[in-house]
Formats: sequence, C-alpha cells, structure tokens
Amino acid sequence: MSHFETDAIRTQTERSQFLEHSTPLYLTSSFVFEDAEDMRASFAEEKQRNVYGRYSNPNNSEFVEKICKMEGAEAGYSFATGMSAVFSTFAALLNSGDHIVSARSVFGSTHGLFTKFLPKWNITTSYFDTNNLDDVEYKIQSNTKILYAESPTNPAVDILDLERLGHIAKKYKLLLVIDNCFATPYLQNPIQFGADLVIHSATKLIDGQGRVLGGVTVGKADLIREIYLFSRNTGPALSPFNAWVLSKSLETLAVRVDKHCENALKVAEFLENHSKVNVVKYPFLKSHPQYAIAKKQMKLGGNVVAFEIKGGIGAGRQFLNKIKTCSLSANLGDTRTIVTHPASTTHAKLSEDDRLETGITGGLVRVSVGLEHVQDIIDDLNQALKV
Ligand SMILES: *Cc1c(COP(=O)(O)O)cnc(C)c1O
Repeated sequence: MSHFETDAIRTQTERSQFLEHSTPLYLTSSFVFEDAEDMRASFAEEKQRNVYGRYSNPNNSEFVEKICKMEGAEAGYSFATGMSAVFSTFAALLNSGDHIVSARSVFGSTHGLFTKFLPKWNITTSYFDTNNLDDVEYKIQSNTKILYAESPTNPAVDILDLERLGHIAKKYKLLLVIDNCFATPYLQNPIQFGADLVIHSATKLIDGQGRVLGGVTVGKADLIREIYLFSRNTGPALSPFNAWVLSKSLETLAVRVDKHCENALKVAEFLENHSKVNVVKYPFLKSHPQYAIAKKQMKLGGNVVAFEIKGGIGAGRQFLNKIKTCSLSANLGDTRTIVTHPASTTHAKLSEDDRLETGITGGLVRVSVGLEHVQDIIDDLNQALKV
C-alpha cells in the first residue's frame, strides 16, 4: 500500500490522447455517447462513465478519489461548499420526524441549519456538552438517527474523543458523522474510530491558499449512494475548476500542514508564556485539557490556536486593531495568518450565557496560523499585545 503523500500526488484520472503529465481541467457540462445503446446503458448506470456535470466530472472524481484514499473511505461526493456537503448529507439521510444529537460547539452555519432550517421539515436536534461525553447518552431519543461532532472545535479548539463517540454510535445504532475540517485527512481519520461519514470544508486547509470554496462527504458506499442520488437531483455539485484546484492542492497538503502545525505550536508556546494572556488552547500543548486524546487521535495539533487576552471584550478588540502583518478575515487555513475575535463577530448574536457555554469569552482570540516565517507572526502578535 502506498503512503499518504504518494496517493495525494499519484492518484490521477486516465491520461487523454495528449499524454499530459498533470491532470488537465475538464471544462465541459456534458459528455457524448457513441450511439443509442451507449446512451441507454449510461443512463441506466450499467456503465461507470461521465454523463452530465451535475452527476460527475473527471476533475471531481479525481478529487473525491484522493480524499477517499486519505480517509480510508469507500466512496464520496464533492460539493460546491462545505455547507452544501453538510446540508446534503443530512437532507439525503434523514426523514421528517428524525432526530440529531450534536455537540454544542459546531460551526456557526451548521448550528443555524439545526436550529433554523431542519425544523421546517420536522427534523430536530439536541445538543450535548462538548466537554462531557457522559452527556451524549442522555440526549439520545428513540428517533435519533445521527450523532454529529467536529474535533477540534471552532473557535474554542476543544477535542472530542472520537473513539468514544464511535462506541456510543455503535451501541445505539446511530450514524456517526464527523466534520473533520480542522484536522484535515492528513492529521486525523475519523473512520478509523467508527465514523460512518466524514465531511470536509475543502475551503480551508485543503485549498490552503484562500482561493476557492469546496466541500466533500466520504464514507460508507450505501450512505454515499443516497447522498449522491439526492445531490444529482438537487444540484450542489462542485465546479470542475474548483475540483481541479483542490486536487492540485492535495498534492502539497502533507508538507503544508506539517509546516502549519510547526508554526502553530511555536505560536501557542509563545502565547502561553505571555503575561497578557490568560489561557491558551492548542491540542498539542500539554496544558490542553484533552491533550492525551488529541495525541491519541491526531498526528499533529492543527493550525488553529485559541487564547484569551486579559481584559475581556475591550482588550480583544484593541488587540485586533493593533494587528499589522496578520489579516483580520473570516476564513481559516490560509497561507496567511488570520486573527478573529469571535465574541464581537461570528458569535456576536449569541447571548452572553450561550457564548460562555461554548467557551467563547470576551477576550477569546482565534489565530489560524499561516505559513509566513513564524518569527514574523510572533512579532506581530507580540506588538499587538502591548498596551
Ligand atoms: C468553514 C467550515 C464549514 C463550512 O464550509 P464552507 O466551505 O465555508 O461552506 C463547515 N465546518 C467547519 C468546521 C468549517 O470550518
């Protein structure tokens, strides 16, 4: 069996008559048939071939095949965004009356989907305490179908024990769906711990250069078949151009993520020793409450560091205003280091109590550590921490 880096580079669609070395971009909305019989057999799915861009495209297939190899998954489907992957996965697998049990800390739009939109179709969600997995079993009902979580979480960088979630899902016959975006397939493979499906926003570290949006769901073939049938009818397909960019990006995922993690650990260690900083959360710092679990399930700690500035919400905003080299932006997983202040931006609409319940204090700052020279990142954070 070949290794991660080799699969990322050598998994490739068949060469065309031009014998290109690098996979070309297949900008075509449809594909042609030899004759009436070829067309009939293709539509009947007696042949595995491309028919129409909403169903499949060679660039999309290459991207999905790579992610499947990296995650140890049987099959997958690629989406225009991470959120279309999340939505289509739920919409394809759930019926009216079904119930989801989810960690309380999930990506903002996923939380919005659970609270504002899925209830329109009578699909309800209960939340368990992200830092207390004893709570999960209390939230399971007779109509629960899916157990859902992210690890590491956004923005508080909490870690959930995937193996334990796998056991609970098995015991109650639930589908375990993990959003593996923060870890990437390079650092963590949830299927190994019992996940049935793994979702990625490819917009983040998979692209890694802040250029395109994309998403993917991979896992058990029978479940992916349902997701595929839903998607080929509803149309959330990833564009071939973005698939081409993302498949190229995967070729360098391992080296990029190694460097992101090396820089992030140094930034976390710097912050931990800073007098203006209360708490630093980074999975591979010994002080992280779930350090042992992070070590068990992740190869490295990821690129996101959360920390709390002394002085609350005012100090957090002041820090952001003094940042020079790093960017203030909503994205993460870019080559450029990005700093955000969740309490005054992404989570500003939450009540103070709800914010604190998800670990978002007034002084919490999230840093998506990039690939600039680490000393320049640290110098910028250091000057912004000076009053
Ligand atoms: C960004 C993100 C998403 C959504 O992805 P988009 O590509 O922005 O739609 C989902 N989950 C997590 C954890 C994310 O960080």
